[in-house]
Amino acid sequence: MTSFAIKCLDCGHTTPYFPSSANCPRCNSMWRQAVYDYDSIAEKLPAQLAKRPFDLWRYRELLPVRNPNMSISMGEGGTPLIRAINLGMMLGCPNIYIKDERQGPTNSFKDRQAAITIAALKEAGITELVAASTGNVAISYSAYAARAGIKLWAFVTSLVPAVKMREIALYGSQVVKVTGSYDQVKKVAEEFANQRNIYLDRGARTITSIEAMKTLAFEICEQLTSILGHKTSNGNGNKKIWNSPDWYIQAVSGGMGPLGFAKGFHEMKLMGLVNDMPALAAIQAEGCAPMVESWKKGLETAIPVVSPRTHIETLATGDPGRTYALLRHEIDESNGVFESVTDEEAFRAMHVIAKMEGISIESAAGVAFAGLFKLIRAGVIQPDDTIVVNCSGHTMPAEQFILGDGWSSEVELSERAREATPQDGLLAALNRIAPDRFPRIIIVDDSAEVRRLIRRILQSQGNFEISEASNGLQAIEMIQKEPPDLIVLDLMMPEMDGFSVLDVLKNEPETAQIPVIVATAKELTTDEKSRLHGQIQSLMQKGDFLNDEFLDEVRSLIR
Ligand SMILES: *Cc1c(COP(=O)(O)O)cnc(C)c1O
Ligand SMILES: [Zn+2]
Repeated sequence: MTSFAIKCLDCGHTTPYFPSSANCPRCNSMWRQAVYDYDSIAEKLPAQLAKRPFDLWRYRELLPVRNPNMSISMGEGGTPLIRAINLGMMLGCPNIYIKDERQGPTNSFKDRQAAITIAALKEAGITELVAASTGNVAISYSAYAARAGIKLWAFVTSLVPAVKMREIALYGSQVVKVTGSYDQVKKVAEEFANQRNIYLDRGARTITSIEAMKTLAFEICEQLTSILGHKTSNGNGNKKIWNSPDWYIQAVSGGMGPLGFAKGFHEMKLMGLVNDMPALAAIQAEGCAPMVESWKKGLETAIPVVSPRTHIETLATGDPGRTYALLRHEIDESNGVFESVTDEEAFRAMHVIAKMEGISIESAAGVAFAGLFKLIRAGVIQPDDTIVVNCSGHTMPAEQFILGDGWSSEVELSERAREATPQDGLLAALNRIAPDRFPRIIIVDDSAEVRRLIRRILQSQGNFEISEASNGLQAIEMIQKEPPDLIVLDLMMPEMDGFSVLDVLKNEPETAQIPVIVATAKELTTDEKSRLHGQIQSLMQKGDFLNDEFLDEVRSLIR
């Protein structure tokens, strides 16, 4: 049985936990959090962990449920930590890891929150709850409430995509659509709960929710330790401790995730399991970025955004209330940042992550990745930093925003073809999908990894016949034998570098006119730039490959 207490953040008064009592009995504050006996847990927990399944209940001594009831569990938590190798190469930051929260039972990291909160409510004998949601909380609460036999009243804005609303309803909850902003929806939900005396979920002030989110921190440290090995403690002799990232990046709406994550780190520090808190990066959608704007102005309280202007409804909390001050403190302490990105940047990031990593994310998670790109470009995140991005949710309704026309090819078999010789008919139909000859591109780079990456980027965007050369001499031989439509050329190669390849090609009339894109990881000197001037069509730094401009360039050059 877990023992813990609830401590008021304002007056320090400590009480036992009853989910239905929302205020501190001494000062009436609603800002309270769970505290545990860290010393005694630190003694026993690490040895226990080895024997437990990898889900969030492995940390049960640190969760506010007295006797975890596994009958409502769906294996929540314990999501994979995936190294983003292709993305790392493109961005010049090899140590990027994706915490794949899509793999939770309802495909978002809200499953942590719902699993713990519903378990605590069930333990307290509560049978009905009201929650306001930007979509994912309600989906997850709805699923867990179904298992626990608890009735959920889900209040959502009418802007929540219809697929998400139907999913909430599917689990048997009552969906209440409110025409208005999310902040207004929260007020309506509160009014309803008060009138009927039903338990109300209070977002970041819900003790169980913050506690649930801290399991992200525990898991990430355990996983990084098994991938990268232990670290050594700063104090405490040479004690081996858990590994931890340099950065934790998350898309933020109400801010519950990073607050819980930070609490997880404080607890691990108290237990001597880690050294330092990672820098926290909270990313908001530009059309609803009250925390970012207020932080950049140095404000202590956030100025609410009254009418959010973003398609990314999941992140449309216009008034963060006190969460801003709490999160600001954590971000400043950790040398982290608040940053915002546009909807377009988020949609582009979704597309990049899907194409490069095979991971289909929702636009809210796209905001976190777009933030990663921005912070790397700005030099805030350094090339050798270890970064964990919370891939907070799975794509459902946003594909229409990111796929242009021409994303599919149709194969139609004629009646006759189907009857007679199906094989021939099929071949003829397949030939119609694509012309006989695709534009030919040759990639010249000494690194096989980089060639693979450029090939992958090109192939994901169009049909090309691609060949590769691993050095300058081989390239020239191949190009002279059969001139391609385009050359993608690296500059730094052993023996014969890209400059010399260019000199040879430009001297021969047969090859002088072939367009060349130079792709290089090197910072060019003025001298080198002037050597390239007039010789090539375009210069791409390797970190630029993420940009659509690279492909536009390719298309325009081979036309
Ligand atoms: C809720 C949610 C967020 C924002 O989480 P907070 O920590 O509460 O701000 C981000 N991404 C997804 C997919 C979400 O469901
Ligand atoms: Zn108090």
